[in-house]
Amino acid sequence: MNLEQIASCIAGYDPNALRVDKAQEFIARLVPRVQAVEHVALRSALGRVLAADVISPIDVPAHDNSAMDGFALRGADLAREGDTRLTVAGTGYAGAQFAGSVPAGHCVRIMTGAVMPPGLDTVVPQEFTRTEGDAVVIPPKAVRPGDNRRCKGEDLARGQPALQRGRLIKPADLGLLASLARAEVPVYRRLRVAFFSTGDELRSIGEPLDEGCVYDSNRYTLYGMLQRLGVDLIDMGVVRDEPQALAHAFETAAASADAVITSGGVSVGEADHTKRIMKQLGDVLFWRIAMRPGRPMAIGRIAKGGNDAILFGLPGNPVAVMVTFYAFVRDALRRMSGAEGLPLPLLRARCTTALRKKPGRTEYQRGIVTRTPDGPWQVAITGSQGSGILRSMSEANGLVVLHHDQGDVAAGDEVEVMPFEGVV
Ligand code: AMP
Ligand code: MG
Repeated sequence: MNLEQIASCIAGYDPNALRVDKAQEFIARLVPRVQAVEHVALRSALGRVLAADVISPIDVPAHDNSAMDGFALRGADLAREGDTRLTVAGTGYAGAQFAGSVPAGHCVRIMTGAVMPPGLDTVVPQEFTRTEGDAVVIPPKAVRPGDNRRCKGEDLARGQPALQRGRLIKPADLGLLASLARAEVPVYRRLRVAFFSTGDELRSIGEPLDEGCVYDSNRYTLYGMLQRLGVDLIDMGVVRDEPQALAHAFETAAASADAVITSGGVSVGEADHTKRIMKQLGDVLFWRIAMRPGRPMAIGRIAKGGNDAILFGLPGNPVAVMVTFYAFVRDALRRMSGAEGLPLPLLRARCTTALRKKPGRTEYQRGIVTRTPDGPWQVAITGSQGSGILRSMSEANGLVVLHHDQGDVAAGDEVEVMPFEGVV
C-alpha cells in the first residue's frame, strides 16, 4: 500500500488540518515492526524488547515455604477456643529443611524461606507466641489455618508464561528471569535511527556563529530523546540546503536505518530543497497538523538498497521538534522496536493560571508538575510558550495537553498533563 492508500483507510483524514489522533492512527498503521531476533546475555536484555514468550520451566517457589520466622503447624491442631499448646519437634532453616516427622500436636520452629515440613500448612509468627519449656503457646486468634505460608508456584507456575513477547524488559524482569535461571534472552534487534538537521542557518558546535545563524540544537535534543529509547543512533550532522547534499544524506540514511528523522525545511513556503528532495526520493506526505506547536510535518517511506526506512520530517523549531517527537515519534519507534502499549502517561493536575485555547487544535504547553502539600497534582506553565523558546522545554517536566475540542482554561481548572521526565 502506498501512503495515500493508507490515508484513505482513516476516517476524517485531512492532510491540511490533520487532527493529532488521526496522525497517530496513520503512523501506527504505517510503521513496520523489527523482525530479526538475537540472543543476549541476561544483563544485556535490560531495555530490550522480548522476542518470544518466556515459559516458566519450574515452579517458583519450588516448594511451599514459610513467609515468617515462627512455628509451622497443622491448621487442624489449632484449638477452637483458648490457647493452643504444641510441642516443638525441631527447627527448619532456609536452605536446610527439618527432615524429621512431625506427629500431631507438634510443631517445627521455622525461618522465613524454609521449606514447610510435610503435613504442616500454617505458620504462626514468633512474636505472637510464648514458649513454656519445649512447648509453644499460641493465644486464640493469633493465626488462621493456611496463614503465612507461600505456596509452591505462587510466583511463577511451571508451564505458564512468565513474560510475554513484546515486553520492554525492566529491572524486575531481569530478576524474574534470573529466578528461572535464564542466562540468555531472545530480544528483537535494536532499531537503527538516523537523524540530521537541515538548514543553511545552522552552525555546529566549534564553528563560529555567522551573522543571522543559530547553533544546531535539534540534533542534541533528538540525541537525548532517542538515547532514552535505547535505539542505535546514526548522527548524520547538519546537512546543507543543497540538493545533492540532501539527496546523499537521505539515501545514505535510508540504506541503513529503520527510521530517518530530520528537522527543519518542512513548513509551507520553505525556500529550501528539503521537501522537494524528500518527495523525489520517497513516498512522502506533507501534513499540516491541527496542533501547536508542531504544525508542519512530513511522514513517509524511503526505499534504498533493499531497505525501507520510515521518514519523520519534523519541523525546525526547537520546541516543535520535541513536542512532535513526544506526540508521534516516540510511540512509533517503540512500536517499530516490537514493544507496544507504553505511551507516556497522562495525569490530571490543577492548572495554576488561566490559559487561552482555541478549540479545533491540540495545544501542548510546557508545564512544571508538582505535588501540592495536600496531595493533588498541580501544574504551572513555564513562561513564554513560543515554539523557538527551548528554555520553556528545559524548565518543564511535562506537557499540558489541551485537547482538540477544548477551550479556555480558568485558573484552578483541571487539565491533562503528560510528564516526560522521571518516566521511561
Ligand atoms: P524551519 O522549520 O526550517 O522553517 O525552521 C523553523 C525555525 O527553526 C527557524 O527559526 C530555524 O532557524 C530553526 N531551526 C531549524 N532547525 C534548527 C536546529 N537544528 N537547531 C535550532 N534551530 C533550528
Ligand atoms: Mg529552514
